Amino acid sequence: MDSLFDAADGGENREERLAELARQVAVCTRCDLALSRTNTVFGTGDPYSPLMLIGEGPGENEDATGLPFVGRAGKLLDDILAAVDLTRRDVYITNIVKCRAAVEEGGRMKNRQPRTSEIKACNIYLQGQTEAIKPKIILCLGGPAAKTVIDKDFRITKDRGKWYDLEGGIKAMATFHPAYVLRQRGEDLQNTKRLVWKDIQAVYAEYQQAIEERG
Ligand code: SF4
Repeated sequence: MDSLFDAADGGENREERLAELARQVAVCTRCDLALSRTNTVFGTGDPYSPLMLIGEGPGENEDATGLPFVGRAGKLLDDILAAVDLTRRDVYITNIVKCRAAVEEGGRMKNRQPRTSEIKACNIYLQGQTEAIKPKIILCLGGPAAKTVIDKDFRITKDRGKWYDLEGGIKAMATFHPAYVLRQRGEDLQNTKRLVWKDIQAVYAEYQQAIEERG
């Protein structure tokens, strides 16, 4: 993977590095998702946080606002973070693709999963964000993020909740995407939520340790 930054930079001034990347994303035409987007959705939060959350990609609401995780899934993400006393300001949140993937159905655009080629085209930006932020912990939200960041053969139902060691001393875990949680009903909804709540507790323990080590 090419780096967008000179390694000699030393990692300081993360805001500047991210702002430069965001400027590149705003005019990016590396894949066809550029053709139908309203806004690019780069990422938000604390660039100095030890914890980075990575989701799948912008949906309709995110495309309209330019912000990640808005609407019902965003509200649920806030609740998940609040369960361990975190807010969006404590973490950095982004997605594996920065433009909405959609398909026309019955005269209206519906969200779809990004294609492998689109994820690959966009990975240079995720890589750049990760290099700038240098997280200690990554929490992938959903299977596509986990397949991109952790392992291409990742199975979310089988492998979520486990820790994986990534390059650069990063510990990574995946849990269910909030939008997936919201699609569950009855007992499945309760069971899925319980697993997500368990995962965020484990992530928070690592987060606290990283904060303590930083001093
Ligand atoms: S999804 Fe990523 S690679 Fe594709 S156009 Fe948007 S920013 Fe560029």
